Amino acid sequence: MTSKVISKSVAGISPSATEETSSLANQLKRQGINIISFAQGEPDFDTPENIKEAAIATIREGFTKYTDVPGIPELRQAVADKFKRENGIDYEPDQILICNGGKQALYQVFRTICEKGDQVLIPTPCYVSYTEQIKLTGAEPVFFKTKEENNFRPTFEEVLANLTPRVKAFIINSPNNPTGSMFEKEQLKKIARLLVERGVYMITDEVYEHIVYDNRNPISVASLGEKEKEMSITINSVSKTYAMTGWRVGYAAGPKEIIKAMINLQGHATGNINSIAQKAAIEALNGNQESVGIMVKEYAKRREYMVNRLNGIEGIKCNYPDGAFYTFPNVTALYSKKYDRNIIRSDVDVAKFFLEKAHVAVVPGVAFNYSGYVRFVFAKSMKEIKEGLERIEKAIKELK
Ligand code: PMP
Repeated sequence: MTSKVISKSVAGISPSATEETSSLANQLKRQGINIISFAQGEPDFDTPENIKEAAIATIREGFTKYTDVPGIPELRQAVADKFKRENGIDYEPDQILICNGGKQALYQVFRTICEKGDQVLIPTPCYVSYTEQIKLTGAEPVFFKTKEENNFRPTFEEVLANLTPRVKAFIINSPNNPTGSMFEKEQLKKIARLLVERGVYMITDEVYEHIVYDNRNPISVASLGEKEKEMSITINSVSKTYAMTGWRVGYAAGPKEIIKAMINLQGHATGNINSIAQKAAIEALNGNQESVGIMVKEYAKRREYMVNRLNGIEGIKCNYPDGAFYTFPNVTALYSKKYDRNIIRSDVDVAKFFLEKAHVAVVPGVAFNYSGYVRFVFAKSMKEIKEGLERIEKAIKELK
């Protein structure tokens, strides 16, 4: 039914499927049911002490007023230094915009460079918000499926086959949410070269770059060459690396013309981000990095345990993620199985079955435009992981 009140563009937004699953799980929790949630994509660690202390000192100093819209100069400089130090990219501070999380940075990039008639090419499975954010600009998200046997890495041939003259931008998300998969350098180079030749912008979402395993090196596309840098907008955030999801600090870096237009947009949308969080982010980027290593080491142990354990359960098959804290197993072997009066026919049914029978929450693959799979988060305590997987194994054994 069309609404008289709600605009067509907003009425067209689908609710975030990850949030829907979490809220169903929360509902069961409120009924007193002990739910183990592998649904929420955020670190289970607290923000490191040095970062919290920096914020407390900032409040005490009274640094509580509006700041420059794109962020305070010290933070833009800290981000520029981070790009130089960690990614080998030279960005000037005025090529950097501080936003309310990577999420706002992404929205503003799409809003700034895309409009009706444009297409944005997205390999799937993909992060849930890209699609709706792009639709809000009037542009059309266009998807192609990566293959499980390629560890969900988009190939050159797949990108080439899906490029049309209307494609304005291509999304790179490495490590990827929901698969944890990462680009190999040579493969990314080849794809980036093609996109540069075709004049397609690369929007590169690098929010998981620090959470990587097996000594892998994350590659930032803007570091591959001058042309690649001119044609890319790099998105990052302190949310995942520093367990700061609630602080809402992200950033975009790219060509001056684009960043300047994004600043104009942000000036009328939210203005600057929280002044206290900006100071905390400076400490996160410039301060002691020890806590990051500790957290990643812990995720690595949990990844090992979760993937091995899941692969030992009949009906579940998953690849090793290269990074992030997600694994995305294939659950199609559970299709046609029965419990109570239900027949499992889809990944949504699998997620429902896990929730109802094992009291474990996961997100169905359809939320990431990729059916047949579900996403597990392993940013959870080992105790919860063990218990949750035990429950799932037991519930699956009882399927008919
Ligand atoms: N990109 C990806 C791939 C994500 O998974 C997330 C958070 N789940 C974000 C961007 C946004 O994170 P934030 O806004 O907290 O920086």
